[in-house]
Order: sequence, then structure tokens, then C-alpha cells
Amino acid sequence: MNKTTFFAAVCISLGPVAGQAADKVHFEDDDFSGDGWSEFVEVPDTGGWEVIRRELGGLVQGRVQEVTLEGDGGLFLSAGRGSFASLFRSNGSIHAVRTRDGAQSLIDQADAGGSVSLRLGFDGAFFIYEYRTGEQWTRLAKSDILGVVPYTGGISTPNRAEGMSGYRVVELESLKGVRFGYTDTPKIPGTPWVVHDPFRPQPRQVHPGTMTPRDAPGAPPSDAIVLFDGTNLDAWEDGKGNAPKWTLRDGYFECGKKSGTIRTKQKFGSVQLHIEWASPSEVKGSSQGRGNSGVFLAGLYEVQVQDNYDNLTYPDGQASSLYGFRPPRVNASRPPGAWQSYDIIFEMPEFENGNVTRKARITVLHNGVLTQHGVEIPGMLGHKKTRPYREHGPGHIQLQDHGNPVRYRNIWIRELKPIQ
Ligand code: MG
Repeated sequence: MNKTTFFAAVCISLGPVAGQAADKVHFEDDDFSGDGWSEFVEVPDTGGWEVIRRELGGLVQGRVQEVTLEGDGGLFLSAGRGSFASLFRSNGSIHAVRTRDGAQSLIDQADAGGSVSLRLGFDGAFFIYEYRTGEQWTRLAKSDILGVVPYTGGISTPNRAEGMSGYRVVELESLKGVRFGYTDTPKIPGTPWVVHDPFRPQPRQVHPGTMTPRDAPGAPPSDAIVLFDGTNLDAWEDGKGNAPKWTLRDGYFECGKKSGTIRTKQKFGSVQLHIEWASPSEVKGSSQGRGNSGVFLAGLYEVQVQDNYDNLTYPDGQASSLYGFRPPRVNASRPPGAWQSYDIIFEMPEFENGNVTRKARITVLHNGVLTQHGVEIPGMLGHKKTRPYREHGPGHIQLQDHGNPVRYRNIWIRELKPIQ
């Protein structure tokens, strides 16, 4: 079989897959150095992660991805920046395939029927492909991925190259037993990903430390406009300019059933915004259905609010993401019910004759941890779509009603005026 017919056969022949991924592993680019890498393995039932430092060349085989198959199926692994490895069985033959910048190459293949285990690893410089039909693991191939380190890593990723898009992703589907994200959405400008791509690498979960927020709300800077000090909702209105329906409680306010999105009475342009929020302590739902709200800058650009503590969703839609565009650098979420903070610096886009001459920029610290740094926003953000800029001026700060009882407190804002 030549390569062309081989790939065509893969697309149409994949049947149901039996088996579960053995391990769940996140890679992280920040800790990469020339002599090693770090592997993040979730510790079951704790919500925590074990960090294992690996030396280059010291791959612990089988720790990365593993699956046992009775039928056809396989594994994918992303090394970031358009490089993928895949190891799968189709028509009784195991294939080791590497993809780089959209170009596929078949590294090796072997015949194997019956029950077979596959494992696919990455040691920072090489993909390692192995299979087992009995007791012994057999190395099928080892392939370099020159040009992609430092890598961005991530969980199992499908081969998005042409002709392979129908391939089944075993590891991702078994990760949590829930599906999330979209694959039929437009491509995000300047990225290889589509809007809400479930296969975009997941940000690593970090512990945000204890710098902010404090147990009790702090005091705003003296030149800040206080939007909520715990006592009243005077600075807020609903979408029609009426009194907001969110419930004021002891020092915070909360979104109720059909409360509707609320907004500041005042419009703002470029700002520094401090806001604290908490998702419900009682966990209900998953993915986007869990503790979802959002902070909209200029009424248009959403910094997602969501409970993403041990809750997977598409990376460009999780807490501290720029919704529909950019995942946070890390997942600095606190547990459900805990107060969390955003410090957002938003710079307005500039327009000339209706055309954008300077795109909006945004910086976000989530619980004091930098998650977006001077990020240029490519256009108008939204659910399942991308849109070009349209000229706009200052807008309301909006808080989204997404049907979950999310709470807010201690909200203040400083307008950023040009320095003389
Ligand atoms: Mg939202």
C-alpha cells in the first residue's frame, strides 16, 4: 500500500475503540530546558498534580499515553507548533505516523491482530512508538520532531492534517467521560486552532498561592471608581437601563434565575479593573455549564468567568480565557466556592475611518497569577464565531448571566488616561 491509499484507508476504516487511556498527562513549556522536561500527572481524587521531572532521553515508557484495543483505534500526541505523532491500528496493521506542519510521514508499521496495547511517548526531543501483543513491549519507531521545541504540549491531540480529520481520539474521549468543545467553528486568526477547539492544549493547573484575594476584600486605590463595595448595586443596571435583578447579599451580589446580564451605568474605555468572583461551592454541571459568567470589557470582549477547578472545557473558553480566542497561560483557578480575583488591564482599540489602526490589548492576572499578557485581540470575540473589528467607543462593563449563581464582590476600576 502506498502512502496515499494508506491514509485514505485510515479515514474510512476506523471502527469502535475498546479500552481506556491509562494515564492523563499534561506537558508544560515553561519548565522546558535543554536537558529535560516536566510531566504533570493528575493524582486521582485529589484535584492535584504530581510533577515529575524527566531528563532528556530518560523517557519513562508507558507514562505518556497508553490504550488497549480490541478493534481499530489509536493515540495522538501533540508536541505543539503543528507537530503531532499518531500510533494506531487500522486493518490489522499498526502504524506510526508523524505530522509536521501538515506534512505526514509514515515512520513504520507492523502487523498485529487481536488484543493489542499501544503507547506513545514524548521525551522532549523524540516521539516513541511502542506496542504490545503479549507480555513484551516492542518499539515500533522513534521519530525526531526537530524544530518544535520548546513545545507547548498538551493532552491528546488529533491529527488535524488533511485526510486524517475523521480519526478517533481515544485518550481525549476517555479523559473525563464528557465531551466539550467544537470542531465545526471558524479558524481563529493567527492560530492553527478553531474557535473553542477541544484539542487545543490545556493550560496547566497551578496553585495560585495566597497573595490575593485576601479573606476579606481589600481597599481600592484612592483614585479608583468603586463599582461595588458590598453595600449596594447603585453603579449597575440591567440591559435596558432598569435596576439590576441580581441579589444583593452580605457583602456580595449573586446571579439568580433569569437575572439577566448586568452592566455598569457608566461607560469605560481603557481601564484597570479589579473584580472578585466565586463560583458555587456546590458543583453542578460540567464544562461550560459549571459556574459560568463573564466580565465584558467595553461591553464586547469577554474575560471568561467559570469554575475550571478540575473541570475540563475547551481551552479558549475556560476561566481567564479571552473567550473564543485565547486560553490563559496557566489555569490559576481556586476551588469551587472560593473567592477569586481578576485584575484586568484593558486598552481600547483605535480606529480611523472605520478601520482598526490599533487593536485592543488586554492583560489579566487571575488570583495574582499572570494569565494574559498584553495580548492583542484579533477581532470581536464570541461563541462559535470570529468577526472582524467594527468601530466602537467606550462601553459598559458587563457581567454575564449564564444561568449559574456566580457571585461578585469588591469591584473597582481606574480609567487609563494618556500620560502627558
Ligand atoms: Mg461566560
